Amino acid sequence: MGKSKQVGNHNGGKKKNISKTWKTKRRTKDLDQIHADMRPDQAAKMLKQSVDFDVTGCAQHYCLHCARYFVDLKTMKEHFKTKVHKKRIKQLREEPYTQEEADRAAGMGSYIPPKKVEVHTQQVEEDMD
Ligand SMILES: [Zn+2]
Repeated sequence: MGKSKQVGNHNGGKKKNISKTWKTKRRTKDLDQIHADMRPDQAAKMLKQSVDFDVTGCAQHYCLHCARYFVDLKTMKEHFKTKVHKKRIKQLREEPYTQEEADRAAGMGSYIPPKKVEVHTQQVEEDMD
């Protein structure tokens, strides 16, 4: 009696970020697929998708690098500032592992380290606030 309820607090008082939990559950594209999406012609298509009511934000706000849809431009811009997104950009700067690379690493010719790829967050229309 008079005891406070103990709900969802069984890890030493550390609050768990719920939104973070559901994010990790979602299966996203592999990095090599995203690299393919980053090619200018493909990127243009991904960023200008037709309205799809089954998709978050009707498929109008897509982060190319994380392969994720957002409800609106504001949410997407917020996402661009997050660790998740920045980490992804960093990952994408390494070129995908190729067979050619594997051969080089195995001593067939001189080894050239993977090229760094310049990756920037996609442009958004700033006038929409
Ligand atoms: Zn992102």
